[in-house]
Amino acid sequence: MNFIVVGVLAPIAYFLIRLLVKKLVINFIQNLKRNSGVKDMTKCEVCNTYVEDDQLQSINGKTVCSKTSCRE
Ligand SMILES: [Zn+2]
Repeated sequence: MNFIVVGVLAPIAYFLIRLLVKKLVINFIQNLKRNSGVKDMTKCEVCNTYVEDDQLQSINGKTVCSKTSCRE
C-alpha cells in the first residue's frame, strides 16, 4: 500500500519541486539582469560624470555623454 502512495506522490512532488526551482532560477536571473542594468555606467571623459551606457557616444576616440557642451 505504501509503495503505491509513494509511487504516485513521488513523481508529483518531483514535478512540483522542479517547477518551483525553475521559477526561482528565472526570478534570480531576472533580478541579476535588472541589477547589472543599473550598474552599467561609464564616465564621460569631458565632464567626468557617470552616465548610463546608452547615453554615451564615442567621439574622436573619447567616451562622451549626451550634453552638447561635451560633444564639441
Ligand atoms: Zn559629459
